[in-house]
Amino acid sequence: MRKPMVAGNWKMNKTVADAVKLINELLPELQAQTAVDRVVCPPFTALYSVSELLKNSGIGCGAQDLFWEAKGAFTGEIAPDMIAELGEYVIIGHSERRTYFGETDESVNKKVLAALSIGLTPIVCVGETLAENQSGQTETVVTRQIHNGLKGLSTADAEKIIIAYEPVWAIGTGLAATGPQANQVIADYIRKPYAAMYGDVAAQAIRVLYGGSVKGSNAAEFFGQPDIDGALVGGASLKKTDFMEIVNAAA
Ligand code: PGA
Repeated sequence: MRKPMVAGNWKMNKTVADAVKLINELLPELQAQTAVDRVVCPPFTALYSVSELLKNSGIGCGAQDLFWEAKGAFTGEIAPDMIAELGEYVIIGHSERRTYFGETDESVNKKVLAALSIGLTPIVCVGETLAENQSGQTETVVTRQIHNGLKGLSTADAEKIIIAYEPVWAIGTGLAATGPQANQVIADYIRKPYAAMYGDVAAQAIRVLYGGSVKGSNAAEFFGQPDIDGALVGGASLKKTDFMEIVNAAA
């Protein structure tokens, strides 16, 4: 019932020229794969150019972060309406932002509410570090991120957000979780606490993606899991053939 989604997180890669080149290569193949919701999240500097190329293409465009305030003296930050002008999605709370830029569950929550209030669909990232995983903290950490990061949503919003489960130890390391491992965390530590917050209907309606070293060769293992609805892809979203293998595996 949930339509699969594959989103590319380009992170801090690609100049405007490189971004335009990749979109031009990707567009015909992405457009052909209508069984999957396809989204690209370029860096802020390339967002305008990419969004122009994606107009009326059926391919979604998203940012990798936003700030919760509407405007004002916040040097270096990007407001929700600046993104809403260019795209439909925004990644929030990526582990790299939590690790390097002091993002917390509280800031994630403010950003999620700000994004939703302007009509953006947040792709909210949660996941445990290697140390947390090895010390048996996965349930505590992930359920806390869900409770604190996603509180205060309206019923309608609670049914439309997207969550990405990205175990930090699997991001960019080549060490992906197994399909069943990721599915268990998503079912028990994401959908279950989410159902306690917003009800079963919302918990079954939202799409939960897996992220962390997804590639063409392992994508099907994740997409075959009942609680995994697609992928948030980093490294493998930077090349046409790699990204298309994953998108097509989700169909
Ligand atoms: P990766 O990154 O696919 O390069 O592991 C995933 C992510 O950080 O979203």
